[in-house]
Amino acid sequence: MTAIFEKVALIGVGLIGSSMAHAMRRSNAASHIAGYSRRPETLEKARAAGFADSLHETLGPCVCDADLIVLATPVGTFGAIAREMAGDLKPGAIVSDVGSVKTAVVRDVGPHIPEGVHFIPAHPIAGTEHSGPESGFAELFDGRWCILTPPPGTDHKAVEKLEAFWRALGSQVDVMDARHHDLVLAITSHVPHLIAYNIVGTADDLETVTESEVIKYSAGGFRDFTRIAASDPTMWRDVFLNNREAVLEVLGRFSEDLSALQRAIRWGDGDALFNLFTRTRAIRRSILDAGQDSAEPNFGRNRAKKNQ
Ligand code: NAP
Repeated sequence: MTAIFEKVALIGVGLIGSSMAHAMRRSNAASHIAGYSRRPETLEKARAAGFADSLHETLGPCVCDADLIVLATPVGTFGAIAREMAGDLKPGAIVSDVGSVKTAVVRDVGPHIPEGVHFIPAHPIAGTEHSGPESGFAELFDGRWCILTPPPGTDHKAVEKLEAFWRALGSQVDVMDARHHDLVLAITSHVPHLIAYNIVGTADDLETVTESEVIKYSAGGFRDFTRIAASDPTMWRDVFLNNREAVLEVLGRFSEDLSALQRAIRWGDGDALFNLFTRTRAIRRSILDAGQDSAEPNFGRNRAKKNQ
């Protein structure tokens, strides 16, 4: 396959940036992969992993001449990075990102994009609870969705090129409005993470059950929550600070539904519980049917880990 982009600059080479590099190598999607990271330790790990053609400790040399620049650092850093690199962007280049929220990215990055440079925010719906350049693997995006949220008026050809790029990395691609993306992700990802952080925190705070009992008797449900609650604190802090509106809207609905469950338990309304649990079981089946998770024991996570 001929390269889709000559030079791709990855701003951030953690789990997502390094996985993109591995997937680009696998598909030949870029002739030159440049990586930027702030800390020398991270650059050293990236060098050892060997997924980049050049690594940079400053933004200018990384983004200059790049045809695609992808912001892959925590969302809260995007605005300052966009401001700093703006003067080094080549006309006709595409600036994109992988941030888990989109309205805030349009707000923070959009104003710094120079005339003649395309800006197409994106979000690959793929990840693990691991971080850093050593945790990336080429298969991370295989069969997963990547959502592009081009602002109104974005050049169609640039959008098509970015779509082709994500398909080459193994993804399926959808295009939607940034606000809608944020609402969809609030219910499918952000609030579930908040619930996991909360339940693990509650278990940690329980005074009548010791920490060693929580660990020793952790059943499947709690164990799955701890996996999610081990996700990177910086990334998730930034997600909640930058998707406040949609998260609060979904949390409001969640609290009402939780109160209804509380009432059903208090009044012994077994039918209400049974009906809900039957409905939710069907949703799990639809996710498996859509190929978005595995029915293997431990949800196939051991398989994913082997690929890292
Ligand atoms: P990661 O593995 O922790 O890597 C983060 C990268 O950002 C590293 O290169 C790190 O470099 C850099 N970084 C951290 N703090 C920074 C700061 N204050 N200023 C500049 N650079 C900084 O993170 P990740 O999981 O790849 O996540 C990166 C982005 O992908 C986030 O925006 C996240 O929302 C999005 N995302 C994540 C997932 C997921 O499941 N993990 C899924 C989809 C999208 P140094 O070590 O050099 O600081």
